[in-house]
Amino acid sequence: MSIRQKGAAFAGAYFNDERSCRAFALATAPPEGKSYAPDKVVDVLHTKLELGFDLERRAVAGTATHTVTPILDGVTALVLDCCELSVHEVKDGRGKALAFDHDGSRLTVHFPKPLAKGSKSQVAVVYSGTPRSGLYFTGPSEAYPRTAQQVWSQGQDEDSRFWFPCFDYPNERASSETLVTVPESWTVVGNGKLLAVKHDRAKKTRTFHHREDTPHVSYLLSVACGEFAKVEDRWRGVPVQYFVRPSEEGKVRRTFGLTPDMMEHFSRTFGVDYPYEKYSQVVVEDFIFGGMENISATTLIDRCLMDERAALDYEPQDLVSHELAHQWFGDLVTCKDWSHAWLNEGFATYSEVVYREHWRGREDAHQHRLAQMQAYFDRDRAERRPIVTKAYTQPIELFDAHIYEKGALVLHMLREHLGDGVFWACVKEYLTEFRGRTVQTEDLVGVINRMTGRNLEWFFDQWVYGAGFPELEVAFAWDEAEKSATLTVDQKQKVEGATGLFRLPARVLFHGRRPVEQVIEVKEAHQGFTFRLDAKPDFVAFDPGCHLLKRLTFKQPSEMLKARLARDPDWFGRVEAAQMLCKDGSRNALEAVGRALLKDAFWGARVEMAAALGENGSLVARDQLVAAAKTKDHKVRRAVARALGKFQDAAAAAALGALAKGDISYFVEGEANLALGATRQPGAFEILRDSLKRESHLDAVRASSLMGLARLRDDRAWPLLKAAAAPGGKAQGRIAAMRAMATLARGRDPFRTEIREELERYLTDPNFFAKFGALLSLEVLDEASAVPAVEAVRFRESDGRLRSNSRDVAKALREGKSKGEEIVALRSDLERLRDDKRGIEDRLAKLEAAVKASRPPAKTKAKGPKRKGKR
Ligand SMILES: [Zn+2]
Repeated sequence: MSIRQKGAAFAGAYFNDERSCRAFALATAPPEGKSYAPDKVVDVLHTKLELGFDLERRAVAGTATHTVTPILDGVTALVLDCCELSVHEVKDGRGKALAFDHDGSRLTVHFPKPLAKGSKSQVAVVYSGTPRSGLYFTGPSEAYPRTAQQVWSQGQDEDSRFWFPCFDYPNERASSETLVTVPESWTVVGNGKLLAVKHDRAKKTRTFHHREDTPHVSYLLSVACGEFAKVEDRWRGVPVQYFVRPSEEGKVRRTFGLTPDMMEHFSRTFGVDYPYEKYSQVVVEDFIFGGMENISATTLIDRCLMDERAALDYEPQDLVSHELAHQWFGDLVTCKDWSHAWLNEGFATYSEVVYREHWRGREDAHQHRLAQMQAYFDRDRAERRPIVTKAYTQPIELFDAHIYEKGALVLHMLREHLGDGVFWACVKEYLTEFRGRTVQTEDLVGVINRMTGRNLEWFFDQWVYGAGFPELEVAFAWDEAEKSATLTVDQKQKVEGATGLFRLPARVLFHGRRPVEQVIEVKEAHQGFTFRLDAKPDFVAFDPGCHLLKRLTFKQPSEMLKARLARDPDWFGRVEAAQMLCKDGSRNALEAVGRALLKDAFWGARVEMAAALGENGSLVARDQLVAAAKTKDHKVRRAVARALGKFQDAAAAAALGALAKGDISYFVEGEANLALGATRQPGAFEILRDSLKRESHLDAVRASSLMGLARLRDDRAWPLLKAAAAPGGKAQGRIAAMRAMATLARGRDPFRTEIREELERYLTDPNFFAKFGALLSLEVLDEASAVPAVEAVRFRESDGRLRSNSRDVAKALREGKSKGEEIVALRSDLERLRDDKRGIEDRLAKLEAAVKASRPPAKTKAKGPKRKGKR
C-alpha cells in the first residue's frame, strides 16, 4: 500500500508528491497492549463474490461463498469477520440453510455435525449493506459536480470485512472469483483473468466475471467499477492495462508508459517472473491512499496523472514501481502478521530505488534513497520504535516511515553487506520458497543463513528488532613522521530503550594519487583506527556512497574538505564536504560551496548544497543562494527557493518574488511562495495573493501560497484562507488553507474560537482528506476546547487512520502537547544550534590547545629548563 507520508510529511501533503499521503500517523505515545494474529481452524481455499450495487443508496448486496477445509477434526463452527453488514441467510454447498449468529462484527456459522479434517465444505452468505469503509461510492455533488460516479474497494489493512464476510487477516490465503453487475456503460476492473462479460440488454447491465487462481489474502481482493477508457500494453505476451476516466486518456503514457519495462526489470532482478495472468492499473476518484497493490489489479489515486508541466519534476513512476513490486512482495509472498508488514512495504519502497538505478542511473537512485533516509529521520524524531513491533491498536499505525523508508534502507544495507550477486540470489530463494505463502522476518533471516552460511541475526536484531540509528562523529588525524592516518569514531546516539550501540562494517577510502580502501568494523562507543599510507591523503571518505543508515559528522581540515568538494567522484562525498564547510562558516568556505552550487555535475548534490547554505544562515551564504536563484535546473531552483526562506531580508525576498511570480515549474513557484511568506518582507502579501489564482498540479502553487500567507502573519489573509478552505477546491489547497488558518490563529485570542469552529465543521466533510486536514489542523491550533469534536471522529468513523489520529490529537490537545508547525521548526532549530554549539566548543578547545602549544616556553617560564622534544 502506498499511504505515503505520515506525520512530518503531512506538511508536504499540500503540494509535495505522491509520497505526501503515505504516512499519516502522528507522533504518539506507544499504544497500550499488544496485537497478535487470530487463530484459524479452517483453511479457506476459494472465495467467490456475486455482487450488485444500488448507486443511489450507496449499497451493496450479494453472496459471498467460501470453500473451506478444517485443519483439525471436529470443527463445528466457522467464524468470519463481517462488520456492519446485514446477513440474510447462510447456506451450505447444497443450498441447505445453516444456523448462524451475527454480533455486528463477527459472523459465526454453525455446522449441523462436526467437520472432518481435510473435508471440503461450502458456506454461502447472502448479505447486503451500506459500507462506511472497504467499499466506496463516488459521484457528483453540489461542491464537486465533475466527480465521476464510481464504486471501488480498499481492503488493506482490515476493511474487507466491511464489504464482504471473510477471514480478514493476512495469515489466510485463498483463490478468488468475482461476478459484479454494473450499468452497461461501466467496466469492472477485478483480480486475475476476465473470464466473461454478460450483457443483459433488458436490464441494461453487464456482469464482469474475474478469477484469480493464485491464492491471496482477503485485503488484496478488489473491484473498481465505473466508466473507464482502457489503454493496453503487453509484456512478454501478458496484457498490461491502464484504466482511467475517458477525459484523462491523454495522460496515461506519461504516468504508466514504463510499466512493461518495470515488469521486465523486476522479473530479471528478483529472479521470479511476474506471476499473474495480467497486470492492470486503475485510477479512481477520491482514492484514500496513494496506491494499493490489489493482486494483479492495482488501484491508484488520480493525482498520479499529470500534465506536461507537472511532469518536469513530479515523478509518479516511483508510485507505479512501488505498487508493481508489491505484486511479488506483499501479494505473492505476504507478511503473516501486521507486525512484519515491513516485508511488504520495505521491499516495495526499496524497489523504487532499484528501478531508478536502471531507469535513471546510480546517482539518481542514491539521491532517492537519501530522500528516504531523511523521511525516516523525520519520523524517528516524532516517534522512535523498532520496525517489528506488536505494540499497536490499529494496524494502520504501523504503516509509517519505520516500515517503508527504514525497511528500504535496511534492505539496502543488507545488499551492500552481502554483495549484489548474493543478495539477489537470496531474494530469489525467498520468493521461490515462500511463493503463495505467508512470511515473518525469521523466514528471510533463515534463507540468508542457508544460502550464505552467514548468521545475520545481529544485523536484524539491531536494525529490525532494535530502534534508532547510529549518530557517528568521525575525526581524521595525520602523522607525517609515521606516515599514518588515524580515524577516531564515536557513536553519539543516546543508548536507551531499544537503541543500543551499533555494529557497523564500514568502508574508508583515502583519496590521493593512489586511492586506498580499507574496511573497518565499528562497534564500540569510541574507537580509533590507524592506517599506514604512502602519503597524506588529499581527502578521506567514511562510508563512501553513504550506504549505512546513519548521521555523520566527519571532521577533516578545511583544505581537505575543499579538495573533497571539488574532486570526490562520489556526489554525496561532495555534499558531506559542503555540509562541513558550511559549519566551518568562513567566507572562504561558503564561497567554495557557492561555486559548487553553481557548477557541480549532479543536480542532487546541488540541491543538498543549497540546503546547507540555508542552514548556515549568514549573509555570505544568502548571497551564494541569491546568485543561484536563476540556475537552469528546476530541481536546484526549487531547493534554492526553499533555502532562501531561512532569510528574513529584502535581498532574499526579491529573489523569491521573481520565482514566485512565474516559473516553468509548478513546484519552484510553490516553494518560492512558501519561502517568500517566511521572509515577512513588504510586498510579499500582494505576490502571494495573486498566486492564489493560479491552477497547478496538486494545487501546488495555491497550497503553498496559503501556507506562505500564514508564515507572513498578515491578518489581511483571513478572508483568503477561509475561502480556500471551503468545499469546491482541490483537497491539497483546502488542507493547506485549514493548516494556514490554524497556524495564524494559534495562541491568538480574537481568532482561535472562530477558527476552531470553522475547522470543527470540516471534521464531517464528505472528503476523506479534508476531514484529515481538519483533524491535524486542530492539533496545530492547540485549543483544548476542540477535544469533544475531535474525539467524536473516533466514534463516528470506521477508517483506521481517522480513528487513531482522532485519539492522538485529542490526547495532544488535552495534554497541551500539540506540535504546531512553529514548534516543530523551533525544535529542529534547537537541535541544529546544539549541534553548532558542540562544533564551536570543539573548535574553541582545539584553538585554545593550539595557542597554548604554540606559546614559547620562555614566556610561560622565564629562562626555564631546556626545551624538550622535536622542533
Ligand atoms: Zn506499499
